Amino acid sequence: MMAEQKVKGVCRICEKEYASSSLQRHIKSHLSKAATATSKKNTHFLVRAVVGPYFMYFLVPLKSHFYDLDRVLRNYWMECCGHMSSFMVDREEIDMNLKINKVFYAGFKCEYIYDWGSSTYVSIEVKDAYVLSKTPKGISIIARNNPLDLKCGKCEKKQAVILIPEEYYQGKNPFYCEDCHEENDDEYYHSVTNSPRMGVCGYDGETDDDDGAKVMIE
Ligand SMILES: [Zn+2]
Ligand SMILES: [Zn+2]
Ligand SMILES: [Zn+2]
Repeated sequence: MMAEQKVKGVCRICEKEYASSSLQRHIKSHLSKAATATSKKNTHFLVRAVVGPYFMYFLVPLKSHFYDLDRVLRNYWMECCGHMSSFMVDREEIDMNLKINKVFYAGFKCEYIYDWGSSTYVSIEVKDAYVLSKTPKGISIIARNNPLDLKCGKCEKKQAVILIPEEYYQGKNPFYCEDCHEENDDEYYHSVTNSPRMGVCGYDGETDDDDGAKVMIE
């Protein structure tokens, strides 16, 4: 249903839209050009997180901890009711209190798991490291997939805004537009969100306060 979509995303450095296949090369060219500083203290990792058609590129400063990255992933993608989460490499859990520079290097891969019941698995990959002089504080989103184009399953015309988790679990088309959704009191529904947790557990996107702001690196 979702995998066949050609997903695009906006580069937040120049605010132009690219297909997911060319976005990475594009972001790297910005970062290479901006990497003129020499102090290693200013190293930032370009990190990609992927779940199916959903992706995010983060710029992660050297001094961040794994719990900082955990917080960012929870905030924009994961958090429904405070489940456990872990970064795993070769079946070993990475200590959340470690600084990422103790573990990360260009090419490093690990898996992030949120919720050990209805688990969501996120592939994390460190794409490269850049020594930058001007960067935003903390971890920033450099790019993210545009919201998926989900149409109402009933009229098949309008944009879906409501998802009925029960129908999702039953394998039916669970998406409805505002007009086709007939509200009844005991029915449980969620908003359509730009998250791989959509439809899972109690996820409703309420922690996602991403404003899509431009990222200044020069
Ligand atoms: Zn750009
Ligand atoms: Zn939950
Ligand atoms: Zn409809």
